[in-house]
Amino acid sequence: MHTCKSYEQRDLDLIWHPCSQMKDYETLPPIIVDHAKGIWLYDIHGKKYLDIVSSWWANLFGHCNKEINEAIKEQLDRLEHVIFANFSHKPAIELAEVLKEITPAKNRKFHFNDNGSASVECALKMCFQFYQQGGHPEKKRFMCLTGGYHGETIGALSVGSMDLYAKLYQPMMMDNIHIKAPDCYRCPYGKTRESCQCECFIHAEKAFAAHAEETAAMIVEPLLQGSAGMRIYPPLYLKKLRRLCDAHDVKLIFDEIATGFGRTGTMFACEQADVSPDILCLSKGLTGGYLPMSVTCVSEEIYDAFYADYGQGRAFLHSHTYAGNPLGCAAALAVQKIFREQPILQTAQENADWLTKEMQHAIGSHPHVGEIRHLGLIHAVELVKAPAVKEPFDAKKRIGYAIYKKALSYGLVLRPLGDVLYFNPPLNITRKELSMAIEIMQKAMTDVLGQ
Ligand SMILES: *Cc1c(COP(=O)(O)O)cnc(C)c1O
Repeated sequence: MHTCKSYEQRDLDLIWHPCSQMKDYETLPPIIVDHAKGIWLYDIHGKKYLDIVSSWWANLFGHCNKEINEAIKEQLDRLEHVIFANFSHKPAIELAEVLKEITPAKNRKFHFNDNGSASVECALKMCFQFYQQGGHPEKKRFMCLTGGYHGETIGALSVGSMDLYAKLYQPMMMDNIHIKAPDCYRCPYGKTRESCQCECFIHAEKAFAAHAEETAAMIVEPLLQGSAGMRIYPPLYLKKLRRLCDAHDVKLIFDEIATGFGRTGTMFACEQADVSPDILCLSKGLTGGYLPMSVTCVSEEIYDAFYADYGQGRAFLHSHTYAGNPLGCAAALAVQKIFREQPILQTAQENADWLTKEMQHAIGSHPHVGEIRHLGLIHAVELVKAPAVKEPFDAKKRIGYAIYKKALSYGLVLRPLGDVLYFNPPLNITRKELSMAIEIMQKAMTDVLGQ
């Protein structure tokens, strides 16, 4: 029946891909991946692609990682899934025990969901309900940073950036308080990340002075606003935020869905600020990028406020069908075993330092490189029209997208964020693989932008 049609065409006949203008697929058809190993994706025509974005920031130790594959296969023959209300299983219990050891001190209860957005929704609802049943019905709003990203569901969207992904849906959303985020590349105070005192924190102070009384929680991506273009800001901001939240009785939620599990050089980004949130959201790297799972890690204070006789109506009645999926837990346990048994973070940081130098050397002096910023292995290149004044390109030119297409033709998945190119590779990527990625990036940039 399908014999005369290509897989590409059969895909486009039926499938609506995420985060895509489908018309773009007329000139860039979907790449049909047949199999993958380590950092490499292999398509059905035998071409290979270096997955420098970890398949949307999720893949942690390479594709078809032997240890993780084996753990999932073993679990599969024992228990694939079971209702998670009233029932439990060893992989979930063991995973909670491991998470207790590695997450910040405050986070002692673990609520399982099946994707990142769901864990954010869960965190928002928990904070809301905490104050509703705690005698503070006026605390029903949320604070967040401009440019933030916390997922695509309506609640998560409404604490995110009001730009590209969200603007249209505004009439559907909660009325949240968006605080001007740090913008260290274009710092309005003329400071640098290394030397500033977070002068921009004044925006948070003003917002809290005006709105803290009606606010249940503030949510941020600690240290790195991923979808905003890998914007990096100093740990001091988080320290100040923790103090401000405590002073105003506002809960603090850290969304470490992207930054968790070693991406920023430490297991969690918040460790670099030595700050515990009231709620920590984890997903993506949690299962090594294998299976959809998330965990919302909650303080005992919040958990205890829901603990009562059933008749009091304090239970958290939030569920997702695949919560606590045993296969996901088995993958997550295998990930943690790898972290324990191999010097992953140390090697990744050594390679990150090396990468910083190599990237600077290769493209640092290119006339359209505005900033190369980095945290852990994450390295982002902000391309601008005129670096001297940090003037962006006209977004309609889609410079980043043009470079992406070039890089793909050379076998590198350099999917950009606007005009920000970035590497966010698996933590066990080698220097040889990083060198190949740099070389292709440089070539694709030159093709599109000139020398
Ligand atoms: C990816 C991401 C989410 C959403 O997770 P999904 O599993 O895609 O719903 C939320 N917050 C951050 C910081 C993310 O990077």
